[in-house]
Amino acid sequence: MKILLKNGRVIDPANEIDAVLDVLIEDGKIAAVGADISAPDAQIEDVSGKVVAPGFVEMHAHMRDFNEPQRDTFYTATSSAVCGGFTSIGVMPNSDPVVDNVEMIERVKQRAKESALTRIYPFASVTVGRKGEQIVDMKALADAGAVAFSDDGNSFKEATMMRDILEQTKLVDRVVDLHCEDKAYTGKGVVNAGKLAEELGLPGISSVAEDIEMARNLIIQEEVGGHMHIAHLGSERSVELVRFFRNRGVKFTCELIPHQFSRTEDIVREKGVLAKVKPPFRGQKDVDGIRRGLHDKLVDVIASDHCPYAPEELEGGLTATNLFGISGFETTLPLALEMVRLGVTDMSYIIRCMTVNPARIMRLYDRGTLSVGADADVTVFDPDKEWVVTKECLHSKGPNNPYIGDTMRGRVELVIIGGEVICRDFKILKNVAKR
Ligand SMILES: [Zn+2]
Repeated sequence: MKILLKNGRVIDPANEIDAVLDVLIEDGKIAAVGADISAPDAQIEDVSGKVVAPGFVEMHAHMRDFNEPQRDTFYTATSSAVCGGFTSIGVMPNSDPVVDNVEMIERVKQRAKESALTRIYPFASVTVGRKGEQIVDMKALADAGAVAFSDDGNSFKEATMMRDILEQTKLVDRVVDLHCEDKAYTGKGVVNAGKLAEELGLPGISSVAEDIEMARNLIIQEEVGGHMHIAHLGSERSVELVRFFRNRGVKFTCELIPHQFSRTEDIVREKGVLAKVKPPFRGQKDVDGIRRGLHDKLVDVIASDHCPYAPEELEGGLTATNLFGISGFETTLPLALEMVRLGVTDMSYIIRCMTVNPARIMRLYDRGTLSVGADADVTVFDPDKEWVVTKECLHSKGPNNPYIGDTMRGRVELVIIGGEVICRDFKILKNVAKR
């Protein structure tokens, strides 16, 4: 089976390619990338005017399943992912049960084999039950296939524990992926502290909660070394902390999710509970600061932080008790492309942050690239095509997406995994066990 993608703008940051070229796929692999490739027996796809990129690599996604099928299953979550152009997903371990042991790693892999449309790579938690008390057996979990470690949603109270975890990351060559938040400082906070919180009569979340924890962790990193990745930067100051520690030569990676760069807290006034997320949507100063981080290429990864809830969990509007999180892989790319149109950054950098960078951080050195000989995981999108986000075009079970009703520009049109067409214009073509 051969597929020839003709005349697309091929953006493959791993190989420093950004040019109008053809891509030939043969026997599940990238067979050639070049000008005027001819392959008379291939299925020809005219992709002129479109972008041909490596399949997107996700390193921050909550896929649920197991004891939470009402929120999402591997089938529904990966349906959403593949429609968003993602072909490899690192799965956050805060499922029920928590992935903190080898048996759960095996269960994730088995569930993926049965019903996932994308490649699936398990994360393991850093501490047993994500309780922040006892570090897991990182060696055994890495050997079993954990691509990274995270207690996402929780942080480590004791600085000495952060130190010990970093020491361990050196032994297993995996990152610890940090959700930086001083929970006592967050308190019962719901939305951005300040005007919005006062207006809504809800407790606020100050960016201090994130920034003090992040500064502490980076100071320890500077002393101890090890492999650290910082999830979802959420303030202007967090970006400046990245700049400060990078200037000091400290080695770490960091990530943005679209919510923090795409909209201000105004979206919360309009969309209420659908826009309840951590870190919260913030004010213009923070959004500007975060965009400056993108512009100055201080950020390594753009992730979706797909975080679905069942419809009944959203009832009652925005309150202190609803959970935090936004669902929807499908809106990640168009929100990132807005940053290109606004002149914040360039397309190649966006693609880098969604392909080879997260792949390398998860030690998946064969993903996120269109190198000849690599598995043919390819995403083709039209960067200018407009579409309106409706519940029907989101494939997750979680309807908690605040962009429903908005017009997005940029749409994934064709997704190929291992040489097989999995999705075409939001239609799933692969047959797996649906749950
Ligand atoms: Zn988090």
